[in-house]
Amino acid sequence: MALIVQKYGGSSVADAEKIKNVAGRIARARDEGNEVVVVVSAMGDTTDELIELAYQISENPDSRELDVLLSTGEVVSSTLLAMSLHVMGYPAISLSGAQAGIRTDSAYSRARILQVEPKRVVRELEKGNIVIVAGFQGMTEDMDVTTLGRGGSDTTAVALAATLGAEVCQIYTDVEGVYSADPRLVPEAECLAEIHYEEMLELATYGAKVLHPRAVELGELFHIPILVASSFTDNPGTLIHGGVAMEVRNKVRSIAHNLNRGKITVVGVPDRPGIAATIFEPLAKAGVSVDTIVQNASMQGITDLTFTVFKSDLARAMEVVKPIATQIGARECASDDKLGEVSIIGTGMQNTPGFAARMFSTLSEKNINIQLITTSEIRITCIINADEVKEAVRALHRAFEIEEE
Ligand code: ASP
Ligand code: MG
Repeated sequence: MALIVQKYGGSSVADAEKIKNVAGRIARARDEGNEVVVVVSAMGDTTDELIELAYQISENPDSRELDVLLSTGEVVSSTLLAMSLHVMGYPAISLSGAQAGIRTDSAYSRARILQVEPKRVVRELEKGNIVIVAGFQGMTEDMDVTTLGRGGSDTTAVALAATLGAEVCQIYTDVEGVYSADPRLVPEAECLAEIHYEEMLELATYGAKVLHPRAVELGELFHIPILVASSFTDNPGTLIHGGVAMEVRNKVRSIAHNLNRGKITVVGVPDRPGIAATIFEPLAKAGVSVDTIVQNASMQGITDLTFTVFKSDLARAMEVVKPIATQIGARECASDDKLGEVSIIGTGMQNTPGFAARMFSTLSEKNINIQLITTSEIRITCIINADEVKEAVRALHRAFEIEEE
C-alpha cells in the first residue's frame, strides 16, 4: 500500500459541490489501495475576505490574532471535506496544522516550518482514516497558531510528504499543470509532462503561480516527486522531479512572467566602501526583499544604484531609502512602479551560448526596451515595462520554439 499526499487548492474546494467532487477523487485514490493524507487550502477567496474583515476592524491588526483568524479558513474546508467523505462511507478525520504536528518559528504571517511531528497523523492512518490536514498553518513552541505566508498550503503538503516518506505529493489545482508559458497569454503554450526541480524553482520564483517556490525547494531537498494536475479533469498533469534529462537539446523549457516589480534608482551616490550596506541593511530590517541590484561603473567617484522590489513593497522601500539617500549626499532618488519581468528558463541553457543574444534580439525586434537583466545558470530575466510583458512572452515563446517532443 502506497502512501500519497494530495493537496487541493482554494478554487478546487470553493463551494459545497466542489468539495464533494474533491471527496470523490480522494475516495478513488483510497479505492486504488493507497493510504491518503490530504492537505486543503481555504475555500475560494476566504483568506482575502478574512484579511479584509480584519482591516475593517483595525488599521493595524495584531499579528498573532490575524494568524489565528486566517488559519480558520483552512479549518473550515478540512472539516467539510471530512464530512463529505463520511457521507460517502469513508473513514476520515480532519486535523488542524497544530494537531498534525506542523511546528514553526514564531514569525507570524510568514512562519517557517521547523519540524513536523507526525505521530497523530500516523496514528490516524493506522486506524484506517483518510487524514485531512488544514494547510498554511502551524504552531509555535508556545502553542500559538502561525501561518506560513500566502500560498503556504503547498509547503504544508510537501513537508508532510517528506516527513511521512510519501511516494508522491500531488498538488491539485484549477489548471492542467505547468505550462511552457501562461496559456492565457500564449494559446499555443503546452502543458509539460515533466520538469526538473531546479527549473520549477526558477519558474515559481519568477512568476508561475501554480506552485509555491518553498514547496519546490522542499521537494528537491527531500526527493519528493511533486505532481501538479487539475482537480477537475483526469489529465496526467506535470511531474516535477530530479530525474529529468538535464540538457535536453539546448532547450528553453518555459517562459515565466510577472507584472509586480517596482524599481528604485538612487542617482549620484558617492562611490565608497559601505554605501551599499548603508542602503540595503535598513531595507532588510524593514522586511523588504530586494531582487535585482545594479550599480553602474563610477565616474569621478559618483555612481548610480538601481534595484527592484515587489511592487507591493515599493512605497515602504522608498520610505526607507529616501532619507538615507539624502544623508549620504545622493543627488536624487526615483521610483517606477510599472515594471514586469519576463524570464526564459531551462537547464538546457547551461554552458550554451546564444540564448541571451536571441532573447535580446527578439525583444528589440518588438521594440521593447530592456531596463535591467539578471541571470542564473538556467535563467535569463529581462525587466521591462509591465504593459509590454504580454507581447514579450508571446514573441519569446515563438522565438524559442518551445514545444514538447
Ligand atoms: N489560503 C491561503 C492563501 O490563500 C493558503 C493557500 O491557499 O495555500 O494564501
Ligand atoms: Mg488560497
